[in-house]
Amino acid sequence: MRIVLIGPPGAGKGTQAAILHEKLGVPHISTGDLFREHVSRRTELGRTAQRYLDTGGLVPDELTGEMVRGRLARPDARHGFLLDGFPRTVPQARELAAVLDDMGSTLDAVLEFTAPEEDVVARLLNRGRPDDTEDVIRHRQQVYRRQTAPLLAHYSGILLTVHAVGPIDEIASRALAGLTDREQILAD
Ligand code: AMP
Repeated sequence: MRIVLIGPPGAGKGTQAAILHEKLGVPHISTGDLFREHVSRRTELGRTAQRYLDTGGLVPDELTGEMVRGRLARPDARHGFLLDGFPRTVPQARELAAVLDDMGSTLDAVLEFTAPEEDVVARLLNRGRPDDTEDVIRHRQQVYRRQTAPLLAHYSGILLTVHAVGPIDEIASRALAGLTDREQILAD
């Protein structure tokens, strides 16, 4: 299945993606992880991306889209993927549709993880990544509300919303139940 995960920073997308990757056998592709790899390898893209990661702003769509296009062209993504952290803007969603169209495929589902802002901010403060300072966290939440939340309407036809509060395995079960129903519909 070709799945996009959407939710505010701290909603647990990465944790859920790791579980779904095990259950569904498709790669977990996180644009945040890809950027962090570039930063640690000190590539040109990494040097450019670093300043956006540091402040919690979005890396320009063109650079992000090109990186995703390259990743989706790899053989392991041919039969499906879990995209975590991309698309984050409506133009990125259009780019994704174009990439998939070139591959002769489309998205099967968009999984939205919802949680109250106090919960997600508390989770991030506990996580302790370099971009998990209070100011950067608040900025990332604002970027999510302004730039990423509009994607929910864009994807309304294939959106599955999962309440992301509670034990990790219960949240995963809710996500899998939604995906199984969707798969059923696709198979019918
Ligand atoms: P994440 O690991 O998803 O929280 O992403 C960490 C940071 O990477 C974000 O705050 C952005 O600076 C950058 N980033 C990740 N995904 C994207 C994207 N789709 N578009 C632009 N910037 C991104």
